[in-house]
Parts: sequence; C-alpha cells; structure tokens
Amino acid sequence: MKIKAKPARIFSKRAVPSSNTIVPLKDRRLNFGNKWDFAPAPEDSKSYVISPRHELFIGGKFAAPNSGKYFPSINPATEQPLTMIASANAADVDSAVKAARKAYETVWSKLPGRERGKYLYRIARIIQEKARELAVLETIDGGKPIKESRDVDLPLVAAHFFYYAGWADKLKYAFPGKLPHPLGVAGQIIPWNFPLLMAAWKIAPALACGNTVVLKPAETTSITALRLAQIFQEAELPEGVVNIVTGAGETGAAIVRHPGINKLAFTGSTEVGKQIAAAIAGTQKKLTLELGGKAANILFEDAPLDQAIEGIINGIYFNQGQVCCAGSRLFVQEGIYSTVIKKLRHRIQTLRIGNPLDKNTDIGAINSRPQLEKIRALVQSGIAEGAELTQTPCALPEKGYWFAPAFLTGVTHAHRVANEEIFGPVLSVMTFRTPEEAFERANNIPYGLSAGVWTDKGSKIFKLVHKLRAGVIWANTYNKFDPTSPFGGYRESGFGREGGLQGLAAYCRLD
Ligand code: ADP
Repeated sequence: MKIKAKPARIFSKRAVPSSNTIVPLKDRRLNFGNKWDFAPAPEDSKSYVISPRHELFIGGKFAAPNSGKYFPSINPATEQPLTMIASANAADVDSAVKAARKAYETVWSKLPGRERGKYLYRIARIIQEKARELAVLETIDGGKPIKESRDVDLPLVAAHFFYYAGWADKLKYAFPGKLPHPLGVAGQIIPWNFPLLMAAWKIAPALACGNTVVLKPAETTSITALRLAQIFQEAELPEGVVNIVTGAGETGAAIVRHPGINKLAFTGSTEVGKQIAAAIAGTQKKLTLELGGKAANILFEDAPLDQAIEGIINGIYFNQGQVCCAGSRLFVQEGIYSTVIKKLRHRIQTLRIGNPLDKNTDIGAINSRPQLEKIRALVQSGIAEGAELTQTPCALPEKGYWFAPAFLTGVTHAHRVANEEIFGPVLSVMTFRTPEEAFERANNIPYGLSAGVWTDKGSKIFKLVHKLRAGVIWANTYNKFDPTSPFGGYRESGFGREGGLQGLAAYCRLD
C-alpha cells in the first residue's frame, strides 16, 4: 500500500473545524485525502438485538421504575435512538438497597469464599463467551472504536472477574495477620468512558470480599451494564447480590444519600466527586474516589523517538482521549522539539476517524454532544490564549459527535488547556530543558492521576518517578492496564485504589 504523506494544514483561528460534514457515516469512506484505502470492515451489529426498553435490575429481576419515567439512549456515531432506559428515583434506589441488604445478610456474606469465587469464575467465563456481542454493544452505545472495546475493554473485563475470583477464598492470605470482613452494601457510581470495565473494576472486588452491590451506570451508557445483569441471571448469582439502577445525577445522589449504603465507590468528574465527599462527611460510609486527571508525558532527548510517538499517540487518542489518565500534556525536551512535532503531525494524518464499528477505525465518536461542546470550547480557549492548533483536515460524518485528532503548540502553563481536563483527542505540547523543570511543570496542576516518562536511561526513570505526584506512572509505554496493578490518584484525582490487593482492601474491614 502506498502512502503519500502530505503536510497537515495548520488551521488559523477562524478555521477550527466544527465537526461538519462531507462523508456520511454509512458510506464508510475514509478520510485524510484517501491516502489510505482500506475496505470497510464493519462488525455485524444486526445479529445483536437491543430491546426497545431497559428496566431496572433489582432483587435479581428486571422491573419498571417507580417513577414511570424513561429516557433515550442514543448511538453517538449516528444520533439514532437505541432504546429507552428506566429512570430510577429515590424509591427505586431504596428498593435496590433493601434487596442488596437482604442478599448480604441472608446469603452472600454467609457463603464461604470458595463458593463466591465459583460465581465470579462463572461470570467471567460467560463474559468471555459473549465478548463479541458485549464489545459491539459497548461501541454502539458509547462511540468507542470496536478494536478498543473488543481487544482492550472486554478482555480486561473478564480478567478482572477472573482475578478477583481467585482471591475470594484466599482473603486471609491477601492481608497476612489480619482478619478481613465485608463492609455490607456498596453503592457504585460509574462514568461513560469504560462502561463495562468500570462496572467490572467495582463489582468484582466487592463480591469477592462478600459485599453486595447497587450500581449506577452513566446515563449515556447503560445498555451493557444491563446486559451484564442478564449474565448475572445466567450465572445464577443469588438475587439481590448485584442491583443495577439507571438514571442521571439525581439517581446517583439518591445512592449517595441512602443510609443503608456502607461503602461508596465513585469514578467520574472531580466536581461530582467533591459533592459526594461533602454529602457523606460525618457518616460512617467508606469512600473511594477516582476523579479527573491531566497527565504529563515527559519525552527526553535520549528516548527511542518512534516508539515514544506511538505511545504518546495511544496515550492521548485512545478512546478519543476520553480517559481520565489520558496523556493530555506532552513535555518535550527542547533539542528534539521540531523533530517530535514533525513526527506527530505525520502520525495524526494516518489516524482513521469514522464508523466505530469498523475494525479499521482508530478514532470513533465523542460520547455525547455536551462532551463534544466542552472539547470545542476548551480548544477555542487555547487558541484565543495564543496556542496554535494542528488538526488534520478531514471529512466527518454528517450525523454524530466527532472531533478529529489534534494537538496544540505554543501552550503555556497559564492556558486553561494546560490545566483543565479536556477529555477529548487533543494534546497540549510544551517544552522543558532539564529533568527538574520537567517534573516541576508536570506536578504543577491540581490533579495527580497518571504520568508517562520516555527515556533510554533507567536511572532517569527511577529518579523521576519518585518526584512525580501521580498514582500511576508508565515508563516507555502508556495506558497499560492489568487487574493485578492498583490504579488511582492523589489530590483532585481522588483517593483510594482500584485493582490489585489494594482494590480488595477497599471493600474489607481488617481486624
Ligand atoms: P462526566 O463529567 O464524566 O460525565 P460525572 O461526574 O458527571 O462525569 O458523572 C459520572 C457519574 O456520576 C455518572 O454515572 C453520573 O450520572 C453520576 N452523577 C452525576 N452527578 C451526580 C451526583 N450529584 N451524585 C451522584 N452521582 C452523580
């Protein structure tokens, strides 16, 4: 295949693309001046039926909401309505908490760990069997490219259930010298960027330790959580062990307020995380918060550059940048700045944006219109403050929420875009001279979730990782996840860890 590289155009302030429109999605034609000419390879979505209405999952059964209200869930790549989702009110949340309490007291906390483990293994295996269907649903509902939901999200979802299944009968070895006890009913509120994976991160350790769960998925991505509920039925998980209530912020707030909740686990925005922390202050509820981030990727002159560029691209454009640990700030050592910009410019021209169900697609749809508008506004603010936008000009589908991959140069620390979480496929590039300057600038934000270091020198990596204030630091790689590694942040990125032994500890009382 021949690639004719054309230099990317730098948009002037007025020419910032507005997401519109030449190639309708159904044409599945490719962008970027037809440099690439793959045949479209869309997943078959027609074999998976999405029922027109999704009810709440309470006490092992699907039930209509007390409120009688439903809201639409749409496909962000086409704006087509997919289904109606039940909106749970405080009475529904109360029923779910009561079902979870009953299951906790009568069954789940009484089961030996090895029996709980068997259920978790069974769930993991059913997830593996249905991985294709779940990946397609995740992509249709959330907009992420199928190659990510199929090759990253779903394998990790199953891996988390397998991993925590393995701990269920070994808890006393996980915490030597201590006696672990479950906490009771866990309220879990998750975001839309990794709907199934976030559910797995939270449900699997909670159940392994003997807790029961009331989980609320995000309002734009509830379909796969409810499909997971069917998997729980298929696995014959005892009634009420996991309850799923759907709805928007008010439903989440009803979980937070409910006196029958013993532990809250939240992943989402820093703003809502702070509200939750304030709402439960003075109660006995335990809390873990996984909030926003503004990760720095630090690129030294001695790094293997091509490998680093691939990692940096993955770090910012994976899931359209809608990842709390996305490497949205790049600090480049001055001597290699112009080479790096040339390479970045070339590489973003070859990223393919389009139908998320096409396995050739690198960049799918942004999850919702409000999110797209937030990205556009922050990019505009960067331009207004003097940064320069590089964005490959390309035709975008007529319908849906799209933002072509981009990077900003000439960014300074004073710019909003260097400090605020963008949650979109936009990288802010800055420079540094010395390692001291690099970590000082990387740390100079309110967040502390993740960071990346790119260098050939192991000693430099060790020196830097001790100085970076981030919960997860990748060296010469990025966005690598594993159920055995803890994940979480400092400062405005939250507290507590998910994954690994630390993720188990968050669901136990240790005597
Ligand atoms: P984002 O900005 O990424 O959408 P949010 O923090 O708004 O993140 O949402 C994350 C999750 O928190 C979603 O499930 C959402 O419905 C829920 N949520 C929003 N507001 C509240 C609230 N006040 N209390 C509890 N949960 C909330």
